[in-house]
Amino acid sequence: MKFPFREIFPPLTVFYVLVAYILASLLWWSMLHIRKNKAEFENQTTIMRLMAERKGISSEGVMNSLEYKEIEDKLARQNRMIYGEGAIFLLILFIGAYQVHSGLRKEIALNRQQRNFLLSISHELKSPLSSIKLTLQTIIKRQLDPERARGLINNSLKDTERLAGLVDNLLMAAKLDGESVDFLPEDLSVNSVVEEVMAHYENKSDRPRKIELKLGEGLYVPGDRMALLTIVSNLLENAIKYSADGDLIGAQTFKSGNKVMIRIYDTGIGITDLEKTKIFGKFYRVGNEDTRQTKGTGLGLFLVRQLVHLHKGEIVVSDNVPKGTVFTIQLPSAESIVRSDSEMPRSQTVS
Ligand code: ADP
Repeated sequence: MKFPFREIFPPLTVFYVLVAYILASLLWWSMLHIRKNKAEFENQTTIMRLMAERKGISSEGVMNSLEYKEIEDKLARQNRMIYGEGAIFLLILFIGAYQVHSGLRKEIALNRQQRNFLLSISHELKSPLSSIKLTLQTIIKRQLDPERARGLINNSLKDTERLAGLVDNLLMAAKLDGESVDFLPEDLSVNSVVEEVMAHYENKSDRPRKIELKLGEGLYVPGDRMALLTIVSNLLENAIKYSADGDLIGAQTFKSGNKVMIRIYDTGIGITDLEKTKIFGKFYRVGNEDTRQTKGTGLGLFLVRQLVHLHKGEIVVSDNVPKGTVFTIQLPSAESIVRSDSEMPRSQTVS
């Protein structure tokens, strides 16, 4: 059995103890040197005074002598050296400690993320596969009526879609890591992308949500259709995932200056201010994998932000009122194109 070294001596604790020990010994050695130098100075000056007394020279005369001044200067020089070297040592120690500390914290966070990712990805792969397997076994073993069989097959189709979505996200993340993304930039109608994703979720969402769509007029961006679909569908999937039955989910598109804005909002559980700064991190998921109820891998928002940045855009997250979350994406608009605008301004609410 491997000795549980890291559990018994957690790296961060060992590091803090080490830094505290180095600081304490630095202080101790400096004080020791200063005291020794002072003692040596006092010894030398006492001898000088005794010798001077024999020669009948007053103690004031000794203190004004060149020899005394030299010894005094030497003490001051030695003390300056101790303070100077101590300060440089302290500076180097702080820089080194800071680097090691942030490296250790990053390693710990990475380990936690890796563990969370492995747990979540195995769960994400296993549950649809088990359910598809069960469906196929049921269909083979039993004589089901066509209606029931269709229901089961539809569920399996949803599972395969989930698997395909997961694999797409993983592939996209790998591509973005390797910076080998082949985008086919075209002038895209933002509304058509949002509508396509919305229609998809309206059809497949088994949990009842109120869905709201507010689409602006003539909104085009230069971009890759697949990438934009990934952005919107990841945000919409999260809006559904992190809200409850009866909550409102919405998408809004509009223009602000020369920017096209896409807003996906919900009235779900919301995100704390602290978490808002972290959720775009790769594999980052709020909470703990052992206790979390929702499915996911922590890749969705990472991909969304990377893709938005690749389109020279920005994404911000804010609180919805009275509760929930709003994700607002800002993309440069494709002003130059001439189009027979097939898009009409629309505003619709589907329940
Ligand atoms: P996940 O696969 O966990 O959904 P994401 O990268 O898509 O990963 O999201 C990261 C985290 O951000 C999620 O674990 C969730 O806690 C939080 N989050 C994302 N979208 C929302 C939302 N609309 N409402 C509340 N929390 C959200």
